Amino acid sequence: MSLLAQELAELIRQEGPLGVSRYMAFCLGHPRHGYYMKQDPFGAAGDFTTAPEISQVFGELIGLWAASVWQAMGAPASIRLVELGPGRGTLMQDMLRAAGALPAFREALSVHLVEMSPVLRERQREALVASVAQPHWHDRIDQALDGPAIVVANEFLDALPLDQFVRTPEGWRERLVGVDDEGGLAFGLAGETDNSLSGVAPVGSVLEQPTAALEAVAAIARHVATAGGTGLFIDYGPARSGFGDTLQALKRHAFVDVLAEPGDADLTVHVDFARMAQTGLAAGAAAHGPVTQRDFLLALGLQQRFEALSRRATPAQFETLASGIERLIETGPAAMGELFKVLAVADPKLPLLPGFDLHRLPEQGRP
Ligand code: SAH
Repeated sequence: MSLLAQELAELIRQEGPLGVSRYMAFCLGHPRHGYYMKQDPFGAAGDFTTAPEISQVFGELIGLWAASVWQAMGAPASIRLVELGPGRGTLMQDMLRAAGALPAFREALSVHLVEMSPVLRERQREALVASVAQPHWHDRIDQALDGPAIVVANEFLDALPLDQFVRTPEGWRERLVGVDDEGGLAFGLAGETDNSLSGVAPVGSVLEQPTAALEAVAAIARHVATAGGTGLFIDYGPARSGFGDTLQALKRHAFVDVLAEPGDADLTVHVDFARMAQTGLAAGAAAHGPVTQRDFLLALGLQQRFEALSRRATPAQFETLASGIERLIETGPAAMGELFKVLAVADPKLPLLPGFDLHRLPEQGRP
């Protein structure tokens, strides 16, 4: 049993079972044993790889996107470029390099990073030390927001804790993490039903309540609706809401049992984009998308960027570039181009943002 598993089992024996959100929060953010707190989990040798780590083109296109949003905002003299959960700092590094194409934007922006992990803050510092901007770190989103802002979050919402409820013949019961007879962690259900939840669903259905992600989107939507700017969220999940248990654990690029290795495997959930968009609208912002990552990147000129970089590439560089780009836009239900969606919440005074031009908010439904 891992140190964190022992500590959680002890806590459960003293205080009773944990809600799934508390379990997730401990696994990812425990000050000593939390998955992100003690290590850098990215890359081929790590547990998973993200879009900015796959190809520099991802961050470059988003940097150019940010520059054109800034222009559409009327080119304010000062603007915060905020990233939530910047990982190794690669996305911000690539964005800033591309933003250099518009020197006035580069001069107007200051870089603000919301990051809980001291290990990853250090990686971000190293990645950004050579760029002009001096980054500012924050523990919480609200601390990072002041004045006009362009906020970017890749694979951030999927790491925010959520709660789960299971439909029983009597009603919805919360799914809890307890301890079994052998002393190991095990799922169970709350004795009481939760009568605040409505929704007709077959017995056994799982309803997820992504409170932290909804609050994050709402905070940014409220801010940009008044102070100006946008929030861009890229993550995996469905465009339409539905039932289902999406909690998953990943270690060395393979799925593992979510209770087996707390603190030593990444824990994520799928993002319910329809609900995130509704939350943005309710907070006073406009919602653009969700669109697939493939459609978004192609609309931003992925193909043209690829051709421009190809002309200067060695054969080996060309191979890496081509395979990286292919992976970013690959189609198929589990492939990045299709499973990943892009949603922007924006100041309603802004025109339709680049990358979303051909799409309207899909019909939304929540049981
Ligand atoms: N955006 C990066 C990393 C994604 S992993 C990329 O695409 O490569 C998730 C990131 O969010 C990590 O940097 C992690 O430390 C950070 N994170 C997760 N939960 C957080 C929270 N509650 N507050 C601040 N940062 C968090």
